[in-house]
Amino acid sequence: MYEIVKHIEFCFGHRLIDYDGKCNQPHGHNGRAEIRLAHNKLNEQGMVADFRDIRHSMQAWIDENLDHRMILQRGDPLIEAIENLGQHVYVIEENPTTENLARLLYEQTELQGFPVVSVTLWETSDSYATYTPKRLPKQPKNDIGSETTAP
Ligand SMILES: [Zn+2]
Repeated sequence: MYEIVKHIEFCFGHRLIDYDGKCNQPHGHNGRAEIRLAHNKLNEQGMVADFRDIRHSMQAWIDENLDHRMILQRGDPLIEAIENLGQHVYVIEENPTTENLARLLYEQTELQGFPVVSVTLWETSDSYATYTPKRLPKQPKNDIGSETTAP
């Protein structure tokens, strides 16, 4: 198994809804995404994936959607206020916690065809969240597909 990790840094704002704490105020972070890819085999160039391709692909998506934007949950009245000022907002269905943003980045990396295994999003220098999808358990060797019969 080979693993590679690409870091992408971006700035974002958010606020948490139904949260009793200062994170319910609009505020911003200098975030760092760690995109972890893995594959059993290397490609013809001896790579899991070209770092340049990951950067071009994911950096472009992040720049277009998240970088220097407020990320807000659908229904947050701040969305309309910001859009009325001609500014852009990235709207997600869940509370824009670090955990949910890590999953969003995972899903985008997967959509772009990379063999992603997890995404970690650093929100501050000492706080991060990682999203790793639950894997299906390995099938026993003698399960479905085996044509041999016991001797
Ligand atoms: Zn925050």
